[in-house]
Amino acid sequence: MSPNPERAKELQALTTLELGGKAEYYIAARSLEEILQALSFARDRKLPVCLLGGGSNTIFSDQGFSGLVLHLQTKGVELIDEDERSALLDVQAGEVWDDFVSHCIAHGLAGVECLSGIPGYVGAVPIQNVGAYGQEVSRTIESVRCLDRITFEQVVFTNSQCDFAYRQSRFKSYDKNRYVVLSVAFRLWRKTIEEPRYEELKQAMADLPGAQAASRSARPEERIEALLRLRQAVLALRKKKSMVVDPHDPESKSAGSFFMNPVIPQSGIEDFRRKMTEAGFEEYPCFPAESGQAYKLSAAWLVEKSGFAKGYSENGVGISASHSLALVNRGGSTKALMELSRKIQKRVLDFSGVWLEREPVLVGPEEA
Ligand SMILES: Cc1cc2nc3c(=O)[nH]c(=O)nc-3n(C[C@H](O)[C@H](O)[C@H](O)COP(=O)(O)OP(=O)(O)OC[C@H]3O[C@@H](n4cnc5c(N)ncnc54)[C@H](O)[C@@H]3O)c2cc1C
Repeated sequence: MSPNPERAKELQALTTLELGGKAEYYIAARSLEEILQALSFARDRKLPVCLLGGGSNTIFSDQGFSGLVLHLQTKGVELIDEDERSALLDVQAGEVWDDFVSHCIAHGLAGVECLSGIPGYVGAVPIQNVGAYGQEVSRTIESVRCLDRITFEQVVFTNSQCDFAYRQSRFKSYDKNRYVVLSVAFRLWRKTIEEPRYEELKQAMADLPGAQAASRSARPEERIEALLRLRQAVLALRKKKSMVVDPHDPESKSAGSFFMNPVIPQSGIEDFRRKMTEAGFEEYPCFPAESGQAYKLSAAWLVEKSGFAKGYSENGVGISASHSLALVNRGGSTKALMELSRKIQKRVLDFSGVWLEREPVLVGPEEA
């Protein structure tokens, strides 16, 4: 059969954390046919399958993976519809996300510019509704084409059928591990550029001659200039926090934010406020959540105030010196990383009564 599976494949180099043992089998699939062949290979041998993109949100256990790691490497960006106001691009799962962002900007297409510098592949962005600096992919995704891993049939989900929420979707919740995302269709804007929500990004636009006009301008070069400014400002902010994967920056050997910002219901907020008062904090980040009747807290603030400073280290893992939400590998193991993660979760719970949910996907036992 083609493609040939590799045996005992080292997994460390396939993730940004650079942790984990070996995969029993590994296949890099470059077409739908190869994806189908790989899934059939696993089905015939009753092997579990782990789908992998850029490995920037995946933690492999030290024991590795007893099954097939299927690395999605399908390529292609196709313009499938356009009008004066927008363009619809269908992007294959194995395209590098940041290359796609650059492609959009070069064509004056807006809607993903604030998501510049996020590592990983396009196929993974709908899984956790990737977001940063006020933008989420759910704003531009029109539909997601998937392969059903049980029936091997293709199915297209419209945006509303994806059930997107903060770092959430059907693919991460009730349909977890059910589908292979084959391609994602994005509707990008030709006429508007969203007003940046972050002060630093507003500043980047402020001194652009005719910045306001550029946003709505029909002239592509002005739009491209405005979008490029935003991209550069986002990349500069991300670099400061080691949130761009850079082999020269050891603090970027992470999976990005390790914990999600907790969203707590209205009924839980009084308890949280009381705990903060008891702990001597009169001010703390707490914002009404978009979903209403709930509040969003800052996971970074909770981690820091429960006693974990930036730069903290133990057993070869630690907290990034530039970002208190990023756990980094400093020559340790997945076991050490997960121990640190549990320690942080417990301390934050004791301090605030709030449980921090992990963002990256652990492949292997929880007690790794
Ligand atoms: C330095 C750094 C900064 C980051 N910043 C951000 C940020 O600002 N915002 C944010 O939201 N995230 C951020 N992340 C997290 C991560 O980059 C995103 O979640 C990204 O979309 C993951 O893509 P990937 O291809 O690397 O996914 P992988 O790690 O390869 O996979 C993640 C999950 O998706 C599944 N999956 C992957 N591809 C497919 C597919 N085609 N079909 C079905 N399932 C699939 C995998 O099985 C796995 O469960 C950051 C990570 C790092 C390391």
